[in-house]
Amino acid sequence: MSDSEPTIERLAPATEFQISSNGNGLHETVESRGVKEETLHTVSVGAQSINEYSSIIGEERMEQLRRLAEPLKGARVLQLNATPYGGGVAELLRSQTPLMRSLGIQTDWKVINGEAPFYQVTKSFHNALQGADYDLTESVKDTYLSTNARNADLVDEDYDYIIVHDPQPAAMRAIHGGNGAKWVWRCHIDTSDPHKGVWNFLQPYVEQYDAMVFTMDQYVSPGLDRSKVNLMPPAIDPLSPKNISLSTDFCKRIVGWVGVDTTRPLITQVSRFDPWKDPMGVLEVYRSLRKRIPGLQLAMLGHLAMDDPQGWEIFGQVQAEAEGDPDIHLFTNYTAASSIEVNAFQSFSDVIIQKSLREGFGLVVSEAMWKGSPVVAGRAGGIPLQMEDGESGYLVDSTEECIEKALYLLENPGEARRIGANGHKFVRDNNLMPRLMAQEMKLLNSL
Ligand code: UDP
Repeated sequence: MSDSEPTIERLAPATEFQISSNGNGLHETVESRGVKEETLHTVSVGAQSINEYSSIIGEERMEQLRRLAEPLKGARVLQLNATPYGGGVAELLRSQTPLMRSLGIQTDWKVINGEAPFYQVTKSFHNALQGADYDLTESVKDTYLSTNARNADLVDEDYDYIIVHDPQPAAMRAIHGGNGAKWVWRCHIDTSDPHKGVWNFLQPYVEQYDAMVFTMDQYVSPGLDRSKVNLMPPAIDPLSPKNISLSTDFCKRIVGWVGVDTTRPLITQVSRFDPWKDPMGVLEVYRSLRKRIPGLQLAMLGHLAMDDPQGWEIFGQVQAEAEGDPDIHLFTNYTAASSIEVNAFQSFSDVIIQKSLREGFGLVVSEAMWKGSPVVAGRAGGIPLQMEDGESGYLVDSTEECIEKALYLLENPGEARRIGANGHKFVRDNNLMPRLMAQEMKLLNSL
């Protein structure tokens, strides 16, 4: 285990998690609040100052943030999701929570409790809402609702706004009853063509929210009251350890330290081990490119998130497929996929691949572009929102096209630099955290 990695310890009873870091500040800490009395876990995020962003976004946008925050000063906001690390939602909340506080909005980030069968169910819901087949039995509904009910009981403080992320805790609002707060359901996935049975089951719970937020118009689930729907693509935090500027020498040391030969070309995909991120397709791309680019190496970094039991299975399949090739480097959060390591790989690689077949937004795309690295990404979900094809990155529709574009960039470093530089500008103008915070504050103000 890398010494910068969090350790997860299961305490008795099985619902209690404790995540501890080695104190380097790269990872949040979830404190276990006693063994007998169950509570929602508060994720501790430390303090950040919004003023540090003024040099990046300019005084005018800073002023806009302060104006939007004014009516919300002192308001209590709860952000609720299923995992404190691994995946884009945790990434967003980790950055957003302290910044909202710095604007005077009292924001808590809490994580629901659940056991393995619940996460199996919610991962299947996640896949089914993105169109996969699923057998929705009474016992599945029961597992989902009983865990939601248990967590709804734990929302015992008074909040003005409660923002619930994704399907895992979606039924909590209906079960809880509201208690005078305004409730927002923030859906990060593509639910435009969901499995009918799963959506029919969830829809009545979702409809009870005061507002719903989706990444883009095409994702909005069928049959929802459009007047409650808001659109907001996610964004990256330019000042988080994941995205701060690191020197090439520093990146080289990190990438070299975990076993990559820094004198040879490198392509990387950073993604949970998930079928929609097409890890097998990435291996195929690498194998084909290697015939043309001697000595090419592949790195795949994938967090194994708490709410994603499927990750282990897919990781095992990728490992088996990669066996015997010392130039394929696979990392998880148990070996090397912390923020700084992800940053180093995204900054140092010659080409970043994001071979998604389905995608919510795909924060990793903007993260890599922010570092000036050229990205070749599947034309899926929110990825096309993040680049102009051929100018600030390449969008591809097939494995063959992915191979072709990656090869072009590997063989034309000048063009790779141009695409990378355009990518950085695109992110700066469109996809940084203050833009998302402004949109969220506008929504809360309107409620
Ligand atoms: N991530 C990470 N380590 C990993 C894999 C992913 O820190 O090994 C982070 C990644 O940098 C990004 C987030 O997890 O910030 C993934 O978000 P994205 O929107 O790309 O995908 P999701 O996992 O939410 O589907």
